[in-house]
Order: sequence, then C-alpha cells, then structure tokens
Amino acid sequence: MVKSDVLVLGGGPGGYLAAERAGAAGKSVTLIEKRALGGTCLNEGCIPSKALLNSAKLYEHALHSEAFGVTAENVKIDHAKVVARKDKVVKALVSGVGAKMSANKVNVVMAEGYVKGKTADGFVVTAGGEEYAADKLILACGSVPVIPGIPGLREGVESGFVLTNREILSLTSVPKKLVVIGGGVIGLEMASYFAMIGVPVTVIEMLDKIAGPTEREISDILLKNYKKKGIEFKLSCKVTGVGTNCVMYEENGEEKKAEADAVLCSIGRRAMTEGMGIENLGVAMERGAVLTDEHLETNVPGVYAVGDINGKLMLAHTAYREAEVAVNHILGKKDAMRYDAIPSVIYTNPEVASVGDTEESAKAKGLDVKSVKVSMKYSGRYLAEVEKGDGICKLIIDKKRNSIVGVHLIGSYTSEMIYGAAMMVESGASVDYFKRIVFPHPTVCEVIREALFEI
Ligand SMILES: Cc1cc2nc3c(=O)[nH]c(=O)nc-3n(C[C@H](O)[C@H](O)[C@H](O)COP(=O)(O)OP(=O)(O)OC[C@H]3O[C@@H](n4cnc5c(N)ncnc54)[C@H](O)[C@@H]3O)c2cc1C
Repeated sequence: MVKSDVLVLGGGPGGYLAAERAGAAGKSVTLIEKRALGGTCLNEGCIPSKALLNSAKLYEHALHSEAFGVTAENVKIDHAKVVARKDKVVKALVSGVGAKMSANKVNVVMAEGYVKGKTADGFVVTAGGEEYAADKLILACGSVPVIPGIPGLREGVESGFVLTNREILSLTSVPKKLVVIGGGVIGLEMASYFAMIGVPVTVIEMLDKIAGPTEREISDILLKNYKKKGIEFKLSCKVTGVGTNCVMYEENGEEKKAEADAVLCSIGRRAMTEGMGIENLGVAMERGAVLTDEHLETNVPGVYAVGDINGKLMLAHTAYREAEVAVNHILGKKDAMRYDAIPSVIYTNPEVASVGDTEESAKAKGLDVKSVKVSMKYSGRYLAEVEKGDGICKLIIDKKRNSIVGVHLIGSYTSEMIYGAAMMVESGASVDYFKRIVFPHPTVCEVIREALFEI
C-alpha cells in the first residue's frame, strides 16, 4: 500500500490544481487519473474549442477584411490543419501540467481509481492493481455529457452519427450538414465554429432563447449575430427522435425533420459519480452530484469534492478556486468558497461575458435593482476595430448599497474584460469608488466606465 497525506481522484483542473497546491505546501500527494492529465478542460473542452474558434475567427477576418482596406485573395481554411494545431496546443498544455506535478513532487498514477472505503490506513483507493491510502481524499472526477432517452439517440451515439464534445473536437473531416441539439454554451461554440468554416448548421433548442441563463437582451443580440452568419435556429422546439441522417423535432405541435450527416448532442453535462465506488464512503448526493459545504468538504469528514463532480457551476475556473479552498481547509487555513462573482464566457464572435446577477435574478433575491446600458460604440477602440458592431454593456446596480451586482457584456475582448467586472461584483465596493478608477484609453473596457457615469 502507498500512503500519502492527500489522495486526489481525477486529474482535470480541480484535481491537478488541488494536487499542485497541496504538494507546494509540503504535503505528500498521490493523484490518480484514468485518461489524461488536464481532464476535460485541456483535452476535450475549454482549450481545444478555443483553438478551433480562433482559427475560424482568423478565417472570418480574412474573408471580411475589405472593409478595413485589406484585400485577401484565395482565403481558405483547412479543418484538418486546424485540428492538428489544436492537438499541438493540447499536447503542450498537458505536458505542462505533468511538469507542474513533478515540480511539486506529486505521485501521478495513470490508472482508473476505485474507492474501496475507509480503513485504519485512511481512505483507500485501488488503481492499476495497487492500493493507495490517505487521511484526506479529494474527489475531482468531473462530468460527462448527458445523453437523454430520446428514441434513436443512443443508437446514434453508438453508430458515430451522434457526437459529443469529445468526438466533435477531433473530427478530421468536415460534416456536410450539422445539427446541434442544445443551444447552450458548448453547442453555440461548436455551431459557430462549423458555421464560420462554411458548414450549414441548425441548432435545435427547447427554450425560446439561446445561451441558457445569459441576460435576455444579450442573448437576443447574440442570436441576431449568429443568424447573420447563417446558423439556423429552431427555438421552442423539442427533439423527439434521431433517425437515419436526420433529427426529428416538434415545432408548434407539428412533427418536423432536420437533415444532417452529423449531430452534436450538447444538452448539458452531469457529475461523474458512477462506477468508482464513492458509494462505499457514504458520501451524500443531491441531484446526482456530490454535496459539499463552503469548504468543499462532503458529509464525510476528510473527503472533499471539487469541480464538476459537485455540480455547482461546471466551469474550469470554478474548479480551480474550489481546489484551492479545499486544500486550504486541509492545511487549516481560513478560506471559503463564494459563487456570487464567477464569470462565464462564450468565446464566439462576438464574445459574451457575464458576471453576477441579471436584473431578473437580482429581483428574485429580493434586491431593489436598476440597470444601465451603453453601446460598445462608446468605445473609440471598438468603433475603430469592429465594423457594424452591435455590442452592449449592461450593469445591474443594487440601489440600496449603490454597488454593482451584475455586469453583462457582448462584443470584442469581453472575455478579457470580465475579470475586472468580477472584482467589482466580488468587492461589493460602491459605484462612486469605481468612478475614481482610471481605465486605459482607447480600450473596449472603457464602456464599463462610461456605464458607471450613466447610473
Ligand atoms: C466542449 C467544452 C468546452 C468547455 N469550455 C469551457 C470554457 O471555455 N471555460 C470553462 O471554464 N469551462 C469550460 N468547459 C467546462 C470545463 O471543461 C469543466 O468545468 C472542467 O474541466 C471541470 O474540471 P474538473 O477537474 O472538475 O473535471 P474534468 O476536467 O472533467 O476532469 C476530471 C478527470 O477525472 C478523471 N476521472 C474520472 N473518473 C476517474 C476515476 N475513477 N479514476 C481516475 N480518474 C478519473 C477523468 O478522466 C478526467 O480527466 C467546457 C467543457 C466542454 C465539454
């Protein structure tokens, strides 16, 4: 049996950062990973999707460069080369995680882990025929795509006609027609990539809007932009079946069909909690995810669950912060997780970035709020760089505290601006305080400053 201070199950952002931080603090750590270090995020999620989207953005810019006085002829995109570049980026990042594990003396075991339970040696996990034990166990097994019981869907997955994020990010040939089931962030990013490189794409979404909880006005602008790129949307439509080269759906009570030669199923993800013995610990669960407190500890003292496995906010940066909070708790340091100011981003063109409450969600919490909105055209840089842009910046203000509780942006660079907005929301400082902060000129982030003076 191999004994460590901390055992980590899963090597994605939650697991590898927990291992890195615990190792850096002098703890002996064993990290068990069954597929590849970096998890979903590095191998089949955040990074690969952004690599693809960046190639598509370059292509789109080249195609529409005339408006900027630049003529480009014979512009082409080679999807196989885009994927090969993506693989190179992934490889570099995965090996970087490996290097960090070595630098922090983390014992990495590449095998599937199974939790046996608690013994006198601590929590015991078996992997690759060996037993590993520790007094602290961090569960970081991530999530998997939801494949609902729609007739024909599972058969479609088995035959390769229906793809999940894993397969679609590694396709080496381009589908002739793609149907995306689900108009959430992952579905939209993939729909956007394939539409930008010239594939006819139809997105079927059950709700009457796209991008899930994104602020309504922002998601409406996004929808308009996607439609201009040629993506077809079937909103308020329910998928009823998957057939040969088609997806059946219901629209206004009528049964319809969308032809496709590939389908992406992206209707959500669920915590990965099955088949690895966590039931042997008696860990409490809620709606299929592991229940945790503000220290990411479960009902079993010494067992933590970080990242997608706790189902709270399935984002890599949430997993990172949760990993830090869990490790700090193990180290006896005061820390607690807060979920009020976690940014979310859609990395298409245009980008969408949000943090905190929408007007609706703030009102549901009983806050007395008002919102202000300014056009991105208030920014000189935005006007100089974006042709016919319709971006906006929206602030949600708590009238009683005169503080910002939400920031919602659509337009270029917003993914890079949102961390500043997250600080505004997280700090709870007053609007007057932020009015005294100097923003660089000319930048797109100046629209936030403009909006502050509209309050
Ligand atoms: C297409 C796509 C795009 C995304 N884009 C973004 C984005 O832009 N920004 C963002 O913040 N988030 C994004 N996400 C979400 C992000 O990838 C996840 O929130 C993040 O990876 C969660 O980290 P994690 O450590 O909890 O789990 P994961 O990254 O899923 O890692 C869990 C790891 O545990 C391993 N594992 C599971 N069970 C066992 C076992 N029994 N034994 C050993 N190992 C095991 C798995 O192999 C996996 O490597 C995206 C997701 C997808 C699918």
